Amino acid sequence: MAQNGTSVSIQDLSLSFGVVTVLQTLNLDVAEGEFIVLLGPSGCGKSTLLNCIAGLLDVSEGSIFIKGKNVTWEEPKDRGIGMVFQSYALYPQMTVEKNLSFGLRVAGTPKDEIAKRIARAAEILQIEPLLQRKPAALSGGQRQRVAIGRALVRDVDVFLFDEPLSNLDAKLRAELRVEIKLLHRKLQNTMIYVTHDQIEAMTLADRIAVMKGGVIQQLDAPQTIYNRPVNRFVAGFLGSPA
Ligand code: ADP
Ligand code: MG
Repeated sequence: MAQNGTSVSIQDLSLSFGVVTVLQTLNLDVAEGEFIVLLGPSGCGKSTLLNCIAGLLDVSEGSIFIKGKNVTWEEPKDRGIGMVFQSYALYPQMTVEKNLSFGLRVAGTPKDEIAKRIARAAEILQIEPLLQRKPAALSGGQRQRVAIGRALVRDVDVFLFDEPLSNLDAKLRAELRVEIKLLHRKLQNTMIYVTHDQIEAMTLADRIAVMKGGVIQQLDAPQTIYNRPVNRFVAGFLGSPA
């Protein structure tokens, strides 16, 4: 649900690993509250782009703005983003509650505020009964809920998801897809979601950016992409009539 301003603005972004160019003069404006899906085959640069936005990779050229502020050289923690990975990246030795509170404790958030935020996230994600368990005692779907919860408690402006459902079976994937959609309706924050799964893209996105070889081929609403693909690659990838 795009409101007014621009949330994330990527301007002429390029990134090379040695002589290999992975992102090429890429431009993307994401509106506040918008759900953008980066869709493309393995190796097309989706994770690299997400990692640049998160500040986990240095860009070679270009700039990244979040809420109008140039964050190209800001630390990840100062960007107002939360990232959810495919591999959950939970701390195995900590309970769910400690996993959720870790970032807040590091940031020096007061205890009662931490408790409030954990209660809210646990309720939204329906993980209240799991708070005292450790990750090893959770299913894949439960682990991914906790991973989303870690971004949720930080009250970030922008959520970045890197193939968060790829490790789950088809049934859980469908379930969590619905939950992520509901979460977005509820929070109304900006979400940038990476996947190679066309169904995920079609059901979640306000707009889909179809990527190939480090370039955005088409950026449009799902129906437009499906009905009016700009080239054969987009048509083939979406399975739409060429
Ligand atoms: P995707 O997430 O779309 O599958 P990636 O962003 O992970 O793709 O990778 C894009 C390209 O960049 C791939 O060809 C990959 O091999 C290459 N790449 C990714 N990370 C590195 C790295 N650290 N060093 C060299 N090449 C890399
Ligand atoms: Mg990837």
